[in-house]
Amino acid sequence: MKDMDDKIALEKSELSDEVKERITEKDALLMKLKSFEAEIATLNQEKMKVWKEVREAYHVLKAICPHEWKREPYPYAPLYCSICGYEKP
Ligand SMILES: [Zn+2]
Repeated sequence: MKDMDDKIALEKSELSDEVKERITEKDALLMKLKSFEAEIATLNQEKMKVWKEVREAYHVLKAICPHEWKREPYPYAPLYCSICGYEKP
């Protein structure tokens, strides 16, 4: 394994400046992606929290809205309330 590491180290030192620059650029881009992925995970968690609040709001509206039921003219269109937006399951 030591021989292999030495071989890799040797090969890296023999790389042209252009190759080294491209590797550095590529690594920076991968770091950027990793940072985006962390942000996306945080945003998805926040989205799930807001969706939960929307479901709770619908749960309350289901009980208190006077509801005006409508259905769009396409097959299997859901029945929904044109006032609060609640869809009948
Ligand atoms: Zn309603």
